Amino acid sequence: MTVATSEMNSLQWTHRYAKLGLPFVTTWQGTPLSDVHWVAQNHSLLQKLGLDESFWATEGVLEALSGNQILNGMQPHTSVYSGHQFGVWAGQLGDGRALWLGESRIGHAHWEWQLKGAGKTPYSRMGDGRAVLRSSIREYLCSEAMHGLGIPTTRALCITGSPDAVLRESVETAAVVTRIAPSFLRFGHFEHFAALGQDDKVKQLADFAIEHYFADLKDQTDAWRGNIYAAFLHQVVRSTAQLMAKWQAVGFCHGVMNTDNMSVLGLTLDYGPFQFLDGFDHNHICNHSDHQGRYSYANQPKIGYWNLFCLAQALWGLIKEEDLAMQALEPYQTLFPEALDEQMRRKLGLTDIQHGDRQLATDVLACLSKERVDFTIFWRRLSVCVKDFSNHSTPMQAWQLVLDLFLDAQPIEQWLDTYTHRLSSQNLQAAALLMLQNNPKFVLRNHLGEEAIQKAKTGDFFEIDTLLHLLHSPYDEHSGYDRYANFPPSWASSIEISCSS
Ligand code: AMP
Ligand code: MG
Repeated sequence: MTVATSEMNSLQWTHRYAKLGLPFVTTWQGTPLSDVHWVAQNHSLLQKLGLDESFWATEGVLEALSGNQILNGMQPHTSVYSGHQFGVWAGQLGDGRALWLGESRIGHAHWEWQLKGAGKTPYSRMGDGRAVLRSSIREYLCSEAMHGLGIPTTRALCITGSPDAVLRESVETAAVVTRIAPSFLRFGHFEHFAALGQDDKVKQLADFAIEHYFADLKDQTDAWRGNIYAAFLHQVVRSTAQLMAKWQAVGFCHGVMNTDNMSVLGLTLDYGPFQFLDGFDHNHICNHSDHQGRYSYANQPKIGYWNLFCLAQALWGLIKEEDLAMQALEPYQTLFPEALDEQMRRKLGLTDIQHGDRQLATDVLACLSKERVDFTIFWRRLSVCVKDFSNHSTPMQAWQLVLDLFLDAQPIEQWLDTYTHRLSSQNLQAAALLMLQNNPKFVLRNHLGEEAIQKAKTGDFFEIDTLLHLLHSPYDEHSGYDRYANFPPSWASSIEISCSS
């Protein structure tokens, strides 16, 4: 591996996490891939990082973002973490295929850069350290789709590809995604050192996180009898509750909510067998390897809490006082439902809070569930109906687009009656605006990702760009692209998404 002489435009590297050194991070290098090429480039994220378009063509950049080369300023390394997988302690896990390039700074913002699939690391265990083109496209598009939806997530800057073979269920080709986030710290990073009985290392990590990502906490410790670690845990509880509510509200299923896939910043992290719901089913399981349905759509909020409990255990040696640990954790039981109520109110276009709103949301989901009505289409049509409500002479005419989605009209008509009554106290235009900003027209359905993947396998990457464009602003109408907002085709239900990536 060579060090290129070219500068990466105006990037300033800071490397705060890397400076922790061993045993948190190990200096490492990628294993080169042959004949690398660009698959996808995210122009708007590039801009956010303070770089201009000339970046992509800068000498050494393609190679560096494939793990083949180190550019001036980068300090590649990998980190160690453990975790609970499917409810069972799994011991040491990663980074099995993530190579951190370092942290860049623009203004006050710091961004970690990480390659996924750049080859084996000291933590690869039996794995090959690679990622395939298929899963890399899914991760790239979904990171950006979540960002477009306003849901906290790690970002994806680009994908590079190589003809090198990677064996999964069949032989596929290699790809590398460059992921970007303020931090990739996981619950599992803390669990790792706690499980080794190294509370001094847990403390070092927690102090690092608090200093760099939770600096405001230092002024808020009075409520925690000066115990900053309880305050830290509570902050993660809050952001996780918010994240779970946002996932549920757009019908996002993560699929592998192991504690090593949970971000302490409350970001959506590690896109594997995820899925946006098509027909609504509370018990939907998107991961075909999840036979018990541990990570079903309905279970996600509970699993979020279970995972927070694991983090609390890891921090126990620092918090030390049981009542404070519980005071940090237990509010999840109200924070999550309150956050979900807020999301559902927005979906329903309600600008005030009234008794009965939670029931209204529960009841409509029951109607959807009974007939497996398409989740995204239902909410978008409901929003459009509210927008055009006053153009119709009777309420039932106004709701026709929604009614068309149901075979048995009676339950939904009854619900629409109650909803119409509830809306009567609202300004309809304000309600419609709120709804159109919270009920996306475009989500990354499995079949859309699959179409982009199939084309990419033939060397045609255009569909990835089209999807990125739509998913970056999923609440906009994007006239001419209605096909992408349509019902899934019948073959979509036969797509099987496992952990294999
Ligand atoms: P995941 O289910 O993708 O979150 O991965 C669980 C763990 O397995 C993480 O520590 C990954 O780094 C590791 N892992 C997954 N795939 C590979 C691979 N192909 N090579 C090495 N490690 C891997
Ligand atoms: Mg993972």
